[in-house]
Amino acid sequence: MSELNILIAEDSENDTVLIMRELKKAGYQPSYERVETEADMERALHNQVWDIVITDHNMHGFSSVEALNLVKQSGKDVPVIIVSGMIGENAAVEAMKSGAHDYIMKDNLARLAPAIERELRDAETRRARQEAEKALSHLSVHDSLTNLVNRKQLIDSLSAALMRTDGRGYMVAVLYIDLDRFKVTNDTYGTDMGDKVLQEVAARLRRCARYDDIISRYDGDEFIMVIENIYDTAEACVVAEMVIKLLSKPFQFDGHDIYIGASVGISFSDSVGWSADDLIKNAGTAMYQAKNGGRNNYQEYTSDMDDAAEHRRYLELSLYKAIELDELELYFQPQIKPDKSLRGAEVLLRWHHGTLGLVPPVEFIDLLEETGLIIPVGEWVLMTACNTWCQWMADGKIPQDSVLAVNISTYQFKGELVDTVDRVIKETGIPPHLLDLELTEGTLMDDTESSIEALAALKERGVQLSIDDFGTGYSSLSYLSTFPIDYLKIDKSFVLNLDNNENDAVIAKTIIGLAHNLGMHVIAEGVENRAVLDFLSSEGCDIYQGFLFAKPLPVGDFVPAVVDGFMV
Ligand code: C2E
Ligand code: MG
Ligand code: MG
Repeated sequence: MSELNILIAEDSENDTVLIMRELKKAGYQPSYERVETEADMERALHNQVWDIVITDHNMHGFSSVEALNLVKQSGKDVPVIIVSGMIGENAAVEAMKSGAHDYIMKDNLARLAPAIERELRDAETRRARQEAEKALSHLSVHDSLTNLVNRKQLIDSLSAALMRTDGRGYMVAVLYIDLDRFKVTNDTYGTDMGDKVLQEVAARLRRCARYDDIISRYDGDEFIMVIENIYDTAEACVVAEMVIKLLSKPFQFDGHDIYIGASVGISFSDSVGWSADDLIKNAGTAMYQAKNGGRNNYQEYTSDMDDAAEHRRYLELSLYKAIELDELELYFQPQIKPDKSLRGAEVLLRWHHGTLGLVPPVEFIDLLEETGLIIPVGEWVLMTACNTWCQWMADGKIPQDSVLAVNISTYQFKGELVDTVDRVIKETGIPPHLLDLELTEGTLMDDTESSIEALAALKERGVQLSIDDFGTGYSSLSYLSTFPIDYLKIDKSFVLNLDNNENDAVIAKTIIGLAHNLGMHVIAEGVENRAVLDFLSSEGCDIYQGFLFAKPLPVGDFVPAVVDGFMV
């Protein structure tokens, strides 16, 4: 027995009973409400969901025409069947035209049940189709992975928000959010893990947003948030800070701790009358500035950033050619022991651009990483530097135990670094213990477990391992002892002004004490003057690097500098 919820417009109680009896006979279990007036019908339609509406054609002061209109007005998709003692052919046609699904004569009630059955089936088909259409239109404006609105819908919604804002005295803010280390995650753990991270990013972004803020997955690992009704730019900055804070917390999946982080650019609608596209472009430009400024921070757009963005695009284009044109060169900066003898050198990359001259590494290492060129270039650095180093040692130009320190980017570490190192050792013949690989905290923190594995494999080869820029990153002391690290390099930002800055001095002193306690040695980079050297040496620092002894030197200048010695 299938239940049937019927709204019946009928002024005869008797006829109603007959109709219900007929339906029961056909196997239905009808429940119904009978109405006789327009007002009652309107209320009943509003208050409840009905499977079907049955209406008489002619009642006192009420007819099937009004009943049909009421159903139409209610916006509900309920089949209407007219059951009438007498209805002229013209009236029947009229009723069908205005939306009745069928009409049945009261003396032929046997037709009612099959008609209802057919109408319910049709209604079900209509509902399913509507739902599919709704889902489809949701899909066409949403990103299927994160369920955030897509690029197209973003532009539409942002344009609408800008229209609403026009002349009202408040602003719309656009936050361009780019994940800092997503590519590494995707390359290391595969796209399934990458997808999970993106979904979790979407969930965290929702937590930063108000109910009606727009959040969109703009492209790959780029997200855009639109905040309306902003009176003060600081309101958007607060959201940006929250976004950065939430996204810098580790993502935990399948026992891995993944560190992502984000850079955020912000643009504001103002009197200039920016379009949606302009605002997104400006926020993107600001985002690049934030990335250059060391990631995990935000920048507000200013018009002078356009030049910087232009410059960056130009650099990226010429970077591809740099390798072909042999524009990359290696400089060597001496590292000095406390007795002023040579410990070795750090090799630093330089780019002699055809028209721009010398481009510093801070401007192009990022680009190398983003373009993936860091892999071949990184291998070239290792191979070339080791060759030069071994040649100098073979020729007796530098001591036989001189250590060569090479910077390794996160992308290299997550790639086939161990294989590359094996190849370099084999082809250049460098004694592994004279090779010192400089990694950053961020690189190791990304996934501590597989980092430990990779570091163990490198240690097995006998190479030395250093943590570069120590103090600027997570500076997590607890994990340090789990890694087989030989050296901590105190970042130069703490060293440069250490003689004038109490705080820096305390940090440097603490790092030295900590490292020694954990059985590691310490290198200080950025040693520029005597006072700094004296302080560090009184604290027991093991190795020094800095302009006080020598700047990074081109190949031709390095050996003469070693011959001269480093007395200061
Ligand atoms: P880093 O590894 O921390 O290198 C030390 C930086 O400090 C070098 O900057 C060096 O020139 C600078 N420096 C050394 N002593 C002093 C000093 O006394 N005073 C001051 N003010 N600066 C000093 P550089 O050569 O501009 O390199 C910047 C960064 O670029 C490096 O920082 C490193 O992270 C990256 N880099 C350079 N070469 C390579 C490379 O071959 N591969 C990778 N992955 N990164 C590289
Ligand atoms: Mg370094
Ligand atoms: Mg450093």
